Order: sequence, then C-alpha cells, then structure tokens
Amino acid sequence: MPVPRGRRAGRRRAPPGSLRIRGVTTLRWDAHTCLPLNPAADFAPLERFRALGVNYVSVNVGMDMNAVPQVMAVIAAFRAKLAARPDLYVIPESVADVERAAASGRLAVGFDLEGALPLLDDPAMPALYARLGVRQIHFAYNRNNSVADGCHDVERGLTALGRRMVAAVNDAGLLMDCSHTGRRCSLEIMSASRRPVVFSHANPLALAAHGRNVTDEQIRACAATGGVVCISSVSAFLGVAAPAAADVARHAAYVADLVGARHVGIGLDIGWRQAGLEDWPAGSVDPAYWWPRSAGYDFAIARMAYAPVEAWQELPAELRRVGMHDDEVAGVLGGNMARVAAEVWPG
Ligand SMILES: [Zn+2]
Repeated sequence: MPVPRGRRAGRRRAPPGSLRIRGVTTLRWDAHTCLPLNPAADFAPLERFRALGVNYVSVNVGMDMNAVPQVMAVIAAFRAKLAARPDLYVIPESVADVERAAASGRLAVGFDLEGALPLLDDPAMPALYARLGVRQIHFAYNRNNSVADGCHDVERGLTALGRRMVAAVNDAGLLMDCSHTGRRCSLEIMSASRRPVVFSHANPLALAAHGRNVTDEQIRACAATGGVVCISSVSAFLGVAAPAAADVARHAAYVADLVGARHVGIGLDIGWRQAGLEDWPAGSVDPAYWWPRSAGYDFAIARMAYAPVEAWQELPAELRRVGMHDDEVAGVLGGNMARVAAEVWPG
C-alpha cells in the first residue's frame, strides 16, 4: 500500500474491507440538498445528481419556518413525482433499496426535516413521517423551540419533550441529525440517543469560525455514537468565497484527522433556487430572525454560495490529495453514511 502524503502521523487505519456494506464499496451519498419547498419544484437537479453517479440524496421537505400543511403538500407532491418515474428514482426504505437503485442506475431519494416544529410536540409524529419517506431529522433550525436549541439562539439544553423526541426518533428508525442545533443541546442529544447520530451538513469550527459549524468536542461526541459528520459546501461554513471540491476535502481531512475517516461524509447542502418558487408564502417569514445578521448572515449583501454539484466528480481525487487511501475515500463518499443508515433505518 502506498503511504499517504500530507497526513498527520498516528491516524489509525481502518481494517481492509471494514467500510464495505454488503459488497458495495462505491455508494455515493449526499446527506442534504434543498429543492424549492413547493409542490411545483422541478426535479432537474435530481437528474444532475443521478448523471454524476450519486446513488442517494436526502431532499429537504420542511424546516421550522414551514407550516405543516405546506410540509404535507411538498411530501405528497415529491412522492408522486418520484413514483411517476420508477425508471429514474427509488424512495428507499433500507440501504438494500439504495444498493438496488445503484445497481440499476437509479437515484434513491430520501426526505429530511430541518427542525422539530413539524412534529407538533407529539412523539407519535416521527413514526408517521418515517412512513412518508422521511429518513433524517434535526430538531432546531438555528432558533430555539419546544424540543431543542438552535445554534443561533440562547443556550438552554435539550428539553424534557426533546428527550422523549430523541427516543421517538430512535424508535421510528430515523437518522438523528444535529445540524443547526445548539452546542450543548447537540451534546445532550448525542448522549441521549441509542443510535448513531450524524451532522448531515456542518463543518469544523476550527477551520471556519461560524456559529453553524461544530467544535472538536461535538465532532468527538458524534464519532463516539458511531456517527458521521457530513461536510457542507456552503461558502460561509467552508470559510471561502467560491467553494470547490478541494475546500470540502480540506474540511473532510480535518474531521478524519480528529476522529478517523470512517466518521466523515458529504452533505453538499446545495440550495437549488427556481424562479417563482419560494420556500414560504410571501411575507410569512422574517429572514433576519432565522438567519440573524449578528451570526454572520447578510442576504442584503450576498446570498449563500455553494460548490457546484459537479464537485461530486472531483471529490474522489481531492480526497486522495488530502491523504486518504481508497477505502477511506469510499467511506467518505457514501460508505460511512450507508453503514450508519443500515444500523438506524427500520428496513
Ligand atoms: Zn440546513
């Protein structure tokens, strides 16, 4: 085996074959993307993922600022659109479904929720959303709610209802996510969860000082659950103006050096804007509340920039360039998230 260059000495090497899930070593898994939260959303972006050889993508179907009737309309429309093209798409219930999709050149599409408000304070709701195709949830979108703390709000910790919700998410077989969540609260979720916990789109704070990013303590706690930190390509979270695959790889290498490459994944976090399709009814949401200027957001100056989806093409070479060997690269591109999903999802 060639000795990887540019790697910190002493990182433990995973035993050969440990990242293989039922023989598949090359799954590509994007842990978070955002189509317009509108039943009329165009699925052309999903075709771009599929054409790039991505096998699973998690599509957001609602955030804390979206009312439940909107979330339901989006889920219904997205399910219908996916079901209408069984030659292109699969709504997976298990990692075996993702593998079958991959083997036939189709894209597996799971849904995710960003925030606990769509759960209506009812621990029976995670199981219902799981039946609808939701495979992953975090509990707070930047701001506090009845369940958890957001990363841009006053720190309180996981609420009593939040503890019951963690158990309900575990029981329902949803991936427990801690993106957008307050620091202390995320640590409490990770210690309460009986299953591995992920950050589906969050980057190391050590490389980019932004409140949405995660501390070494959070990264270590995530790895201790057996979970995965998926690197976002959002400019502010990477700390660059024009994000590219090399920046994603640099952040991936930091997490790998801290806790091992088997705890690293990819969630490019691309927001696909489409003309005339807004994420909420006009005037119903105050962006300055959800993305406070004090936390480094200023949409009056610039929207978020993301890496182009074609970054998926360059990621294998960029991950090798930062010193990962082939098994580690395969894990980061998808094997690691597949391993966690196989442990957590009910199928
Ligand atoms: Zn997000």
